[in-house]
Amino acid sequence: MRKRCSCGSEMKIRLSTVIYSGRVEIDDVPIYSCPACNRSEVIPEVKQDLTGLIGKLGDKPPKQSLSFSEWSEWADLLLQAGMGGKEPDAREIERLVEERVNDLLDLHLLAQSLNDAAWQEELRARLARIARRMPNT
Ligand SMILES: [Zn+2]
Repeated sequence: MRKRCSCGSEMKIRLSTVIYSGRVEIDDVPIYSCPACNRSEVIPEVKQDLTGLIGKLGDKPPKQSLSFSEWSEWADLLLQAGMGGKEPDAREIERLVEERVNDLLDLHLLAQSLNDAAWQEELRARLARIARRMPNT
């Protein structure tokens, strides 16, 4: 999950607050930020989750603040990896991803045994969001 900025410096991953529509504070959004020129961008792993959330909020959302970790497995994982301002440990992130996938697979088996189709569907969607892009090892 390393990325080089267009200015040549290595970008760092951190959790940031994104303001949408001037009214909604979305906390804990994982972004790449450049320590040299301050350029920042949302990490590709969460772009689809963020677009989905913004789509749900609509054009005229009420003033509110929410944590992106409730919408994105990746934001949740990075939050758990203890990213409060610290530099992320790639190994720790990989371990958490693996753990999360195992948990979700366990839950999927449980949902299957309960014949809960809606729950199975939700768990499959969460697994797909994690599996879409695994960090490079
Ligand atoms: Zn830069």
